Amino acid sequence: MNASSSGQTPAERIDALLPQTQCGRCTYAGCRPYAVAIAAGEADINRCPPGGERTIRALATLLDLPVRPLAPEVGPQTPPQVAWIDEARCIGCARCIAPCPVDAIVGAQKLAHTVIADHCTGCELCLPPCPVDCIELRPAAEVNDDFARRERADLARGRYERHQARLAAEAEAERIAFETARRRARGEDPP
Ligand code: SF4
Ligand code: SF4
Ligand code: SF4
Repeated sequence: MNASSSGQTPAERIDALLPQTQCGRCTYAGCRPYAVAIAAGEADINRCPPGGERTIRALATLLDLPVRPLAPEVGPQTPPQVAWIDEARCIGCARCIAPCPVDAIVGAQKLAHTVIADHCTGCELCLPPCPVDCIELRPAAEVNDDFARRERADLARGRYERHQARLAAEAEAERIAFETARRRARGEDPP
């Protein structure tokens, strides 16, 4: 598959069909890395539990491949879900903030945190870091309208990309601060 007339690369066209839950259950770091792997012929089209059969069919049509069932090793299809924090039990440790790929959790240190339900993709990544197990997943409404589903996925992709950019900027600032301190300690000019 070559770049389309719209100028999109094959990976971008594949990514446009993925749900943007950013859960990593495909065993890739997010929807975009999985799309890149499919485009490179390194991953099969049946590894996205949140997308399930609908996504497999869409990818099969795009890539002219046969439809096949979800790969057993990625687990069952995930229903639409949304995280909810029991604020009465939340200790405000903020450990759930960084793992959220779409920055859907808000709160300050030592204060109860909350989930912005409209932003949450139901990826489950905030659950393991919570030391008091006060985050639960609740069923969310299924979106059957194709346009609405794509619009929701596009918004999640944008939030994910901003989250990734922020993490990269923070890592770069940390690297520069470390290098500056190291050079000062040696009596060298800062970078
Ligand atoms: S929604 Fe999850 S499983 Fe599906 S492609 Fe994105 S990261 Fe992978
Ligand atoms: S709040 Fe939790 S379940 Fe929702 S997107 Fe963020 S990490 Fe995923
Ligand atoms: S990890 Fe759990 S306890 Fe800590 S801020 Fe998040 S919801 Fe609250």
